[in-house]
Amino acid sequence: MGKKVLLIGSGLGSLATALRLSHQGYEIDIVEKYHQAGGRLNTMEKDGFTFDVGPSFFSMS
Ligand SMILES: Cc1cc2nc3c(=O)[nH]c(=O)nc-3n(C[C@H](O)[C@H](O)[C@H](O)COP(=O)(O)OP(=O)(O)OC[C@H]3O[C@@H](n4cnc5c(N)ncnc54)[C@H](O)[C@@H]3O)c2cc1C
Repeated sequence: MGKKVLLIGSGLGSLATALRLSHQGYEIDIVEKYHQAGGRLNTMEKDGFTFDVGPSFFSMS
């Protein structure tokens, strides 16, 4: 039976860990409490303005 890993949260740390472990043959599950993946690599919108939550240039144009 393959090894399984459960990662809590889908921020950069979790996504990078998932990539590395999946290359080593692990089966990965990720649970995320927010409505989209990425953690601080996201933006939020309010009143027509868009704000970086963190270093969004990593993942967005
Ligand atoms: C304004 C700003 C600018 C930055 N600029 C840079 C930069 O230029 N260069 C750089 O290298 N770094 C930068 N950083 C730091 C970088 O964003 C963080 O170090 C990195 O994104 C953290 O990733 P993480 O996976 O550890 O955590 P996070 O991105 O915080 O991800 C954690 C995830 O876990 C989820 N979560 C938490 N608790 C639970 C739970 N109980 N159940 C399910 N899910 C849960 C959260 O919703 C989130 O999606 C910046 C940060 C900020 C805020």
